[in-house]
Amino acid sequence: MRCPCGCGQRIELPLLDEANPHWRLRIDKEGRPTLSPSIWLRDGCRSHFFVRAGRVIWVW
Ligand SMILES: [Zn+2]
Repeated sequence: MRCPCGCGQRIELPLLDEANPHWRLRIDKEGRPTLSPSIWLRDGCRSHFFVRAGRVIWVW
């Protein structure tokens, strides 16, 4: 995925249990993704956000 702030940075989210850190991806019945925990970019724009039910929720 790309950073939703518009900076164009690519975000790689490891989903494998063996990866550390890793994220859990759940897809609901409507096909909307929910990621946990939140995504925090330590490089570049330093965006911090959640993805819940396909929507980006910013943490400022
Ligand atoms: Zn960004």
